[in-house]
Amino acid sequence: MTTQFEPVIGLEIHLQLKTKSKLFCACPSGMPDEAAPNSAVCPVCTAQPGSLPVLNKGAVELAVKAALALNLNINKVSIFDRKNYFYPDLPKGYQITQLFKPISDNGYLEINGRKIAIARAHMEEDAGKSVHRADATLIDLNRAGTPLLEIVTEPQINGADEAYNFLTRLKSNMQWVNASNCDMEKGELRVDVNISLRPAGTTTLGTKVEIKNLNSFKAVRDAINIEIGRQTDMLNNGEKIKQETLLFNKETGATVPMRSKEDAVDYRYFPDPDLKPLLLDDKWLEDMKNLRPEMPEAREARFIKDFALPQYDAGVLTSRREISEYFEEVLKTGAQPKSAANWILTDLLGALNAAKKDIEQSPVKAAALGKIINFCDNGKISRAQAKKVFEAAWQTGKEPETLIKEMGLEQVSDAGQLETWAKEAIAENPKMAADVRSGNAKAVGALIGSVMKKSKGKANPGLLNEIFNKLLG
Ligand code: ADP
Ligand code: ZN
Ligand code: MG
Repeated sequence: MTTQFEPVIGLEIHLQLKTKSKLFCACPSGMPDEAAPNSAVCPVCTAQPGSLPVLNKGAVELAVKAALALNLNINKVSIFDRKNYFYPDLPKGYQITQLFKPISDNGYLEINGRKIAIARAHMEEDAGKSVHRADATLIDLNRAGTPLLEIVTEPQINGADEAYNFLTRLKSNMQWVNASNCDMEKGELRVDVNISLRPAGTTTLGTKVEIKNLNSFKAVRDAINIEIGRQTDMLNNGEKIKQETLLFNKETGATVPMRSKEDAVDYRYFPDPDLKPLLLDDKWLEDMKNLRPEMPEAREARFIKDFALPQYDAGVLTSRREISEYFEEVLKTGAQPKSAANWILTDLLGALNAAKKDIEQSPVKAAALGKIINFCDNGKISRAQAKKVFEAAWQTGKEPETLIKEMGLEQVSDAGQLETWAKEAIAENPKMAADVRSGNAKAVGALIGSVMKKSKGKANPGLLNEIFNKLLG
């Protein structure tokens, strides 16, 4: 008989905080990979003797913003520790991190109604980078000292999909508060996955395996599924899981051992004597809490409740803070919420996607889109014409009312003009008119069509319908 196993997953996430300068010096942070090696370094981040670290207040601010967006408790006092190990890209021989007293702990994110506990989020500095060449290994310290926030979840995630959804929510919240760009390709968000199995329904944790080197959420999901399969087979064969670190190979889908944790390095942690404990000012912390924006979950719920939007629409509109703000700007023009949502979800996001632009770079601003929506909903222009105006506004940046004039699109709603056209159409199409008269209501569509042609698409079809019914009724 085979046992049913359930996966238990904990994530460790490194987030690059979006500061201008590094964590303990004034060097620029977040230099692109193409930047000249060692062009953003100074005595501090290259560990010259006698240099001293000075904590970057901006990094603390972003760490606190990020932590609040993960529902973490902020610790008024936190302490920087030295984590000692030898590696060529670590010039000091230690990394400054926070082990014993992190800046924040005890948070959570809610994923489909389940609260996933976050144990802690602490500040630390990034290491440099080794560049391997055939003849030598070179060191680039541009990245050394970059501020990171390490976020550690409790072992509570129950599978690959939940891990994927957790990371998606985390990324969206971090971008929402502008703490990080979270671009995984640039290493701004890195994920290590810890996985163990246990007999379904039991509570004792099994031996975990850690997987590193996952460079997309999809890779995280794939690696978890593969690892669950591997561990299930081993346990069913009566084998023991070895605690180890694996590297995931995206191409082959295989995991290969990196190092065994049995002989884990002793990091000899101790408080960094060069840095005083970080003490957060009460008033400052209170301000930070008050500045915490409405988060995506709450905004989504509000959009559903206040504007009667479908869950799907509200979800897309709150997938990025800028999109939700754009939507609310459009509403300020008096546009109907559902119309605004439709236009943003289909026309605007479609165009932005095709042009590979973010909504902040949209050539059609919220006020202009609001006008187009109102002209369309009030019958000044038809939906098809509104689309043309939108495209023209996208190309030229001109105001919708100007474009409507220039393009001669204004819908004709003048009863006299419409009646003249209708009478002409009846005279030109006696058979159609007779059909309508004899009770074939559908035949009126053909008459409306003939007026649309005559008017080059400008006639108001709703009013025409009424006029034909009156004339032929
Ligand atoms: P370590 O000391 O090996 O770094 P931690 O207790 O600090 O382990 O946990 C590191 C990460 O591993 C956390 O995200 C935690 O949730 C996860 N984790 C710990 N134990 C297990 C386990 N048995 N199965 C799955 N994940 C685990
Ligand atoms: Zn520096
Ligand atoms: Mg750990």
